[in-house]
Amino acid sequence: MSRIAYVNGRYLPHRSAAVHVEDRGFQFADGVYEVIAIANGRFIDEELHLRRLHRSLAALRMAPPMGDRALCAILREVVRLNGVAEGIVYLQVTRGSAPREFAFPTRARPSLVVTARSKTLHDPRLLAQGVRVITIPDIRWARPDIKSVALLPNALGKQQAKEAGAFEAWQVGRDGNITEGTSSNAWIVTAAGEAVTRQADTAILNGVTRQGLLHVLAAAGLRFLERPFAVAEAKAAREAFLTSASNFLIPVVRIDEAVIGDGKPGPVTERLSDAYISYAAGGGADR
Ligand code: PLP
Repeated sequence: MSRIAYVNGRYLPHRSAAVHVEDRGFQFADGVYEVIAIANGRFIDEELHLRRLHRSLAALRMAPPMGDRALCAILREVVRLNGVAEGIVYLQVTRGSAPREFAFPTRARPSLVVTARSKTLHDPRLLAQGVRVITIPDIRWARPDIKSVALLPNALGKQQAKEAGAFEAWQVGRDGNITEGTSSNAWIVTAAGEAVTRQADTAILNGVTRQGLLHVLAAAGLRFLERPFAVAEAKAAREAFLTSASNFLIPVVRIDEAVIGDGKPGPVTERLSDAYISYAAGGGADR
């Protein structure tokens, strides 16, 4: 099946789909995006993604390209045209295209691009073996809570991880606390068995998987805390893992040179991963 993308009102072959050279997303990274997971043909936590999309748009004083019903219909059509039953749908909204000037254009219409692709969301090999992460300084701007397409620091961090043979880079703020991964949220499990992830302040993106897992933890009566944690605490943690819409939960078994627990995915992570997979199979909190 050849891939199809949606670009500003048209469904086009992926290889020839394009935006204008003066699109502000291309010129200034003046845009926001969402990545929504699809499992068993259902969108996982679509409501939470829409809520975050509107939050990002409002923070940048950017108009939505259309109403939510029309947007959701386009997302579903792109997923259908690409035959995706398990995978991700990507949507990007920019302030539109206009002659290149920093200040907002007065007449531009927002651009909307949507793509979708099949992908395994819980890779059994990653779940069984876990992954390694490195720590790097967090060099991003002061608003990583906005899901903007300005992802250069994230791309540089991921490349550094790749070159170090690691799966992800956990970014560390000036205060020595881990903020989050370059495309995932960071979690640890304490000696007391509590799942800990940083509170959703302006220093991190409030991951929808993160929010879904908090829901799962609360519903199961498991202990969790949203608070900062330092690199040293993470390295001494009983377990660690990361979350994202495109990979659900992945156990972390090494942080830099420190082996986490006994170097294998831990029981709390495995239990949470199973619980999240069933939550996702039902469509998430929206069901
Ligand atoms: N943090 C960052 C910086 C991300 O880019 C992402 C996802 O792309 C996440 C966290 C995880 O968010 P979500 O669970 O919504 O995929």
